[in-house]
Amino acid sequence: LVQLSMPLNFMGMIYREIKQALIDIDDMFRILHRNPEIADRPGAKPLAAGQAVVRFEDVHFAYHPERPILRGVSFSVPSGKTVAIVGPSGAGKSTLSRLLFRFYEPQSGRITIDGQDIAAVQQDSLRAAIGMVPQDTVLFNDTIGYNIRYGRWEASETEMREAARLAQIDRFIEGLPEGYDTPVGERGLKLSGGEKQRVAIARTILKGPPILVLDEATSALDSFTEREIQDALDRVAQGRTTLVIAHRLSTVVNADEILVLDRGVIVERGDHDGLLDQGGVYAAMWNRQREADAAREALKRAEDRE
Ligand code: ATP
Repeated sequence: LVQLSMPLNFMGMIYREIKQALIDIDDMFRILHRNPEIADRPGAKPLAAGQAVVRFEDVHFAYHPERPILRGVSFSVPSGKTVAIVGPSGAGKSTLSRLLFRFYEPQSGRITIDGQDIAAVQQDSLRAAIGMVPQDTVLFNDTIGYNIRYGRWEASETEMREAARLAQIDRFIEGLPEGYDTPVGERGLKLSGGEKQRVAIARTILKGPPILVLDEATSALDSFTEREIQDALDRVAQGRTTLVIAHRLSTVVNADEILVLDRGVIVERGDHDGLLDQGGVYAAMWNRQREADAAREALKRAEDRE
């Protein structure tokens, strides 16, 4: 019995630790990338985010010194605008978002928000100013309403419903027998990837941060769901300074600026039409994706006919 209770106790402890750790999706992202070397500097002040202008200035970064990941990246996201980062897998796109959250620090160069170096401000205040819609959302074993409310506990019922409406998940929720009180997660109703992402969007709308990071899902959603998610993301991005980490191209067409990152260097920048006219890396990526989409559609039509 002693032998059995030991692992059970241990598992209980781990369970409690994990449960405690799952404070918030942003927190979870934080825990996954926790870096104990990064601490607040003595006398660090809270970030004063007003216009929320984000700037990367000649940022060099490597996880390991022998393998540079970012090699002099500079760009800015003007107040309320959307900048999308595209590029091949492993180019360093998600690394940019990790640096913005200050899970890591650049080896040289700096990142500022409204002119304040993010390395010099209190980390809590930095992370409170940034909302994250992650690739894969993990829901708490609680009601769907609880999962949205996590964005801001003080929010009223009306505000919560408004956030759900903007995220286009309201009708789905209202169609459930228990509505907002429906249990979800491991022990409750299982939601699809697209539904979970819309819950995350509603939560972020409720949190209302001035800066937004959208780490787009790599997994292909069907085109109807993709359109719905895109509409919801466009709404949440409206009026916020937004950085989109795009793993597919369909979502970046309307971005104010698109940066093409390749092996840690920005090789092209511009808006969608301008980049297509250039006929460079972006145009090639776009054509390849169009061909892949067309092939997928043709396959689907053939399957439907069978
Ligand atoms: P994808 O589109 O596939 O998600 P990405 O452009 O977002 O790729 P990053 O996640 O930024 O790429 O990774 C850039 C490079 O850094 C990759 O080669 C990756 O293997 C490496 N890398 C990422 N995280 C770490 C880490 N914690 N330690 C060491 N290397 C890492």
